[in-house]
Order: sequence, then C-alpha cells, then structure tokens
Amino acid sequence: MSSPTPSKATTPENKPSNFLRQIIEHDLAAGTYATRHWGGSPGDAAHHAQGQSDPAKIRTRFPPEPNGYLHIGHAKSICLNFGLARDYGGVCHLRFDDTNPEKEDVEYVNSIIDAVKWLGFDWQANGTSHLYQASDYFDFMYRSAEYLIESGHAYVDEQTVEQIRINRGDFGKPGVNSKFRARTPALNLARFREMRDGLHEDGAMVLRARIDMASPNINLRDPAIYRIRRATHHNTGDTWCIYPMYTFAHPIEDALENITHSICTLEFEDQRPFYDWLMERLIEGGLLASPPPHQYEFARLNLTYVVTSKRKLAQLVYDHKVKGWDDPRMPTIVGLRRRGYTPEAIQLFAERIGVTKSDSWIDYSTLEGCLRETLDVSAPRAMAVLDPVKLVLSNWDEVMGAGKLDECSAPIHPHHPELGKRSFKIGKEVWIDRSDFEEAPPKGFFRLFPPRTDPSGTALPGSKVRLKYGHVIECTGCTKDAAGKITEVHATLIHDTKSGTPGSDSVKVKGVITWVAVADGLSAEVRLYDRLFTDAQPDAGGKDFIESLNPNSLKVVQAVVEPSLASAKADDKFQFERHGYFVADRVDHAAGKPVFNLAVGLKDSWGK
Ligand code: ATP
Ligand code: MG
Repeated sequence: MSSPTPSKATTPENKPSNFLRQIIEHDLAAGTYATRHWGGSPGDAAHHAQGQSDPAKIRTRFPPEPNGYLHIGHAKSICLNFGLARDYGGVCHLRFDDTNPEKEDVEYVNSIIDAVKWLGFDWQANGTSHLYQASDYFDFMYRSAEYLIESGHAYVDEQTVEQIRINRGDFGKPGVNSKFRARTPALNLARFREMRDGLHEDGAMVLRARIDMASPNINLRDPAIYRIRRATHHNTGDTWCIYPMYTFAHPIEDALENITHSICTLEFEDQRPFYDWLMERLIEGGLLASPPPHQYEFARLNLTYVVTSKRKLAQLVYDHKVKGWDDPRMPTIVGLRRRGYTPEAIQLFAERIGVTKSDSWIDYSTLEGCLRETLDVSAPRAMAVLDPVKLVLSNWDEVMGAGKLDECSAPIHPHHPELGKRSFKIGKEVWIDRSDFEEAPPKGFFRLFPPRTDPSGTALPGSKVRLKYGHVIECTGCTKDAAGKITEVHATLIHDTKSGTPGSDSVKVKGVITWVAVADGLSAEVRLYDRLFTDAQPDAGGKDFIESLNPNSLKVVQAVVEPSLASAKADDKFQFERHGYFVADRVDHAAGKPVFNLAVGLKDSWGK
C-alpha cells in the first residue's frame, strides 16, 4: 500500500500477531533488508545497485496466474500481503504470474485488477505503479538459464518424459543420473540455444538444474527448469517457443522485484530448498542482488460449502451450474460482491481467520457473520413482504374514513437517528407475509390467528398483533380458495394504538409483524440464495463436487417492498426487517424494475 506511515487503525499493535508478523518484526529490528537498493523498477543486481536505498521497508507480492477469476482464498492472500506491506511501511506488488502461455487471458487480467482495487488495495507507492507481469522477465530468465549452464549447474536432458519420470526415483529410492548429465557446458549451451531457436519438437528435451539425483527431497533431483512449448503468449506473442517452469520462474520474479517476504501456500514448502538454491547460484553469478527474498508458507483457506479452485469454479460456469463467474452463489470475489459482500466484511474475515501453518476448514458461517456485522451498523432498514397475502382491515372505513391513507414513519437506522426517517402509508389493505398467519396456531405462535373454540368449548378471541410502526389489530378470520389456500386475512384496527402516539401501548401484544400497504408497496423480484453445496466439504478426498450441488440454492419470489426502496441503486444494501440483509442486484436491478438479492439472513440459521 502507498501509505508509508500506517494510520492508527492499522498499526500492527492493534492487530493480533501471527508468525509472519513476528518474522517481519524480527527482520526489521535486525535490519535484514536495510542494505537493499531499488533501481526504480524490477531488475538485476546491476540495475538495483545504481538505485537509491529501497524506500520500501519490506516488499511482498500477490502473484495470481491470470487463468480465472479470483476467489475468497485469493482474498485471504491479498489481504495478507497488502495488509502486511501497509502495516510495516512496505509495498505490495501485484504481479501477473503469466509464464504459462496456454491458460491465460486478458479478461482475467482485468478482473483481477478490479478485484484487488475493490478489496481496497492498490499498488501505487512512492510515485511508482508496482503492477508487473512475469512474462516481462523472460529475457532475464533465459539469461539466468544460460548462466546456470555455463557454470555447470544445468544441462539439457534428452531422455523421454517417461525415462525422466522413472529415473527420478521415489521417496524410498534415489534417482538415477541421466546419461546426458555429464555433457560439457559448451555442448549444453549449444543444445539450449537450439531449443530456443525452434530446432526441436515440443517435449523433445528439457533443461534441468544439476543438483542431486539422490536428494531425499525429490524436488532437488535435477528439476526441469525450461521446456519447449510452441504456444502464443498473450504478452510476448510468438517470441518464445521455450518457457520457464513455474518453480524456476517464481523465485526469479521475486528477486527481480526486490521482494523480501515471499508468502505462499503450504504446498510449496518442499520447493523452498530449490528456491534458496537458485537464489544462491544467481547471486554467486552476480545476476541477482543480495540479500535474496525468502519464502514463507501459510495454510490455504478451505471454506466449507464452497470449492476454492479456479479450475473447479470454471467447471461450474462452463457447465451452466451457475449463471456466470459473478453468480451470487459463487465464492469468487465478483460473486461475493454481487451477493452483497463489502470489502470491509471480507477484510474482517481475513483478519478473523488469521494465518497459521496448519491446514483446517473455516466454517462458512464465519464469513457470513462478518458480513452481518458490517451491514448491521450501516444498512438502512426497510420493510418487505416476501410471500405476500392480503390483510384487510374490515373496520378501517369507520375508524379512519373511507379511502383514507394514514402516514407512518420509521427510523432509517435504529442506532443512527441522524440519518432521519423513512415514511410510508397504511390503509385498509396491507400485504403481510403468509407465514405470519396461522389458522390453527401451534403453541407459542404469537402472530396472527383467528378466534377459536378450545376443547372445553370456550370461545377464544383472535390474536392481537402490532403492525410494526403502525397500529394494533385483532385478527377476525380469513378467506380461502377452493383448494384451501388462504386468499385474505381479516382483522380489525384497534382505536388509538398507532405507534408513537400517546397511549399507543395501552393494548399489550405479544407479536409484531412487518407489512407493506397495498396503496404504496412496490413490487420487486427477490432472489433468495442458499448454499451452493449441501456437503460441507464438497471436493474433499477427490469427491465429485457436482454431486452435492444444492438443488434449492436459488428461489426467486415476487415480493412487495416499502416505497423508500424506489430510490435504491445497484449495490445498495438494506436490512429487510425480520428477514435479513439484501442488496440491489448490480446487474439486473433498475429503477422501476427492482431486483434484490439475499446477502445473508439475520441469524445463522443454516441446518437449524
Ligand atoms: P487455484 O487453484 O484456485 O487456481 P492458485 O493457487 O493456483 O489457485 P494463483 O493464481 O496461482 O492460484 O494464486 C495466487 C495467490 O493466491 C498465490 O500466492 C496463492 O498462494 C494464493 N491462494 C490461492 N488460493 C488460496 C487459498 N485457498 N487460500 C489462500 N491463498 C490462496
Ligand atoms: Mg495456480
């Protein structure tokens, strides 16, 4: 982040510590990276040496591969890397790790830029944009490969893919040296240049680091570092027909960018020795500046009831299991945004789950809790009836006057009177939720029910209920259609009970219900979303996650909402009282054709 002096709210002292913060604090105290120079842009040792002392105390990076839309797991990594840089006077780079030519696309590049910005971070610092792409480093990577060959640390292997695999050995069996391993640097260099010049078929040979075929760490058994691949790259076009392997490219990208703390997920732990080996060789050769970056691993986010793999999310999109990357059920950042998630909620989530070194599953309700918490303090309130049935107040005309409408008001937010009030009408007919009326009420049901006779033959009155912000009413009955479905609920208005008027609470009620007047209610489409999967760990242990797709993850209803929502704009969030938090859909909502998405319910009710 750009701010070199962290604001009060973000000082490290206010944050729960974790092992990464401890490492960084130690490095800052020890001056581990104090001698570094920064050449003003990524570059080799000579480039940085002529620059000033690095103005960034630490450098971290978020290095997505632009092969899909980012998801909540990436959000954890973004908040972590950008957050650490911000808190410790550093800079976080956004780097497109685009060294693999086949899978990448500019559509994804743009979506990643949007997602990081939307989450509240940016890569501008000290007057420089730290947005980089790894493919810009292909020349340097090639030069590094030639250096390794010349210094006897790499060789071209012409064994078949199958032979290489067999000769690598396994956990119990050391590898076997390739017969090409002992060739002279001159011969290797000539061969490698032939690879570069397109004289050999894809897969005919690879460049391998010469390390130790007997290493207990299989990643050090002469890993491949360059392969032949005729593919057009979205940035470099057809300039190259050889491409570096990820494990070779990544440490170099970090070093060229002066990264200090290279933070990745645990599956790269076994790659760290190669990372360090490569850094040592290229510093020895004078190609890279010292001290080199260091890799640290943390546990990836596993979130219940979703899958967090770009490939699996892509499958949901391309098989039309959802309506796109931004479907509100998707755990993608665009999906969460459309669902009503805020950057604050996601940042709170990232902070709350913390960083650890052991894998675990985080319950989806933790994420929902963060959204609820951030929306509760900010979202304007509104009344909405999601499953409307008409309530007729039979004595309205006598009490209030025929055709008359009465004005009611309610606070926009109960804890922020300064936000003012919203107003709406009440009249003879109002919409109520079907579930707020029971002809035969179960025990403990305090909303609307008609007069009855108890088993001993005693007549019992209908229930008295307050129409929230309105009057107290007494239920008198209902009408039904031929199929027995309730078509209208009937009640009478009780005099002098309007909310906010003197003596209005003289009639005690046990139930309060929300409602919208027929006269001024707006019709709206409401999309009720539920979890995308019924299995808490849809893809654990190689399970086919498609099998546990929740068939009821979307229910669309035609609701009636209060008139204050007429001015709702896309992305505006509201609490629909008694129902939950809703957002005006950023794609389909329009004035005169409102569409709201359920973001999260008021309580954690999943499975209860
Ligand atoms: P996917 O499997 O979804 O494609 P990836 O790890 O291959 O994920 P990258 O684009 O390579 O995706 O990841 C960019 C950064 O995000 C990496 O540093 C990676 O460690 C981090 N990241 C990806 N998934 C998670 C996750 N579930 N939790 C935390 N960090 C993650
Ligand atoms: Mg990846």
